[in-house]
Amino acid sequence: MALQAKKIDKINADIRQAEADAGRDACSVQLLAVSKTKPAADIIKAYQAGQRQFGESYLQEALLKQKELSCYQICWHFIGPIQSNKTRQIAAHFNWVHSVDRIKIAKRLNEQRAANLPPLNVCLQVNISNEPSKSGFQLDELADAVEQVSKLTNLKLRGVMAIPQPATDYKQQCKPYHLLYQAIKHLNKPELNTFSFGMSGDLRAAIAEGSTIVRVGTALFGSRSD
Ligand SMILES: *Cc1c(COP(=O)(O)O)cnc(C)c1O
Repeated sequence: MALQAKKIDKINADIRQAEADAGRDACSVQLLAVSKTKPAADIIKAYQAGQRQFGESYLQEALLKQKELSCYQICWHFIGPIQSNKTRQIAAHFNWVHSVDRIKIAKRLNEQRAANLPPLNVCLQVNISNEPSKSGFQLDELADAVEQVSKLTNLKLRGVMAIPQPATDYKQQCKPYHLLYQAIKHLNKPELNTFSFGMSGDLRAAIAEGSTIVRVGTALFGSRSD
């Protein structure tokens, strides 16, 4: 078996194990392969191993790869920081956006999503570790943001995404996800059922705390220089 296929199988096995350990249903967590900075050839290898969901952070790079890969049935997720002047192309070329971090961005994506496309799936990015340097809504802004974004008919609000401060201790890794999961459950909106939680380094903790999409780059494609 090719190396890439082995890595995909290994991560999927890790995800299945973490689901079981958390008493969760098998396949309640999806693998999003984060291919930022990696060439289209790497995406093809993962695709051949069965992977269909890919995440990108840098728009220009992503658009070039999408062009190269246009004959593949890939579901594209945008997970990077969003400047206002990038929303038009994001709205046109992606199926999901995980990193909606302010209302202005949601409104622009809504206005720019073409009427002939299905609504753009979005998650609100939440600044769960309260880091001033990080983007995202604060926990206490979440209810209002959900209210506003739910009204935008060319968007489909699916849930939340978080990138907590990196921690090596399992309990520390769990904490921020736990807080955010509870905050969403409190809103009592069953349609908010996507929790984009967890990366290569904290998969198990994220899945124990309710993740439904883990975003894995390094563990699949190797380290990056970014
Ligand atoms: C790069 C990136 C990832 C993947 O991180 P790894 O540690 O390489 O698994 C996940 N989420 C976001 C938002 C990223 O930018």
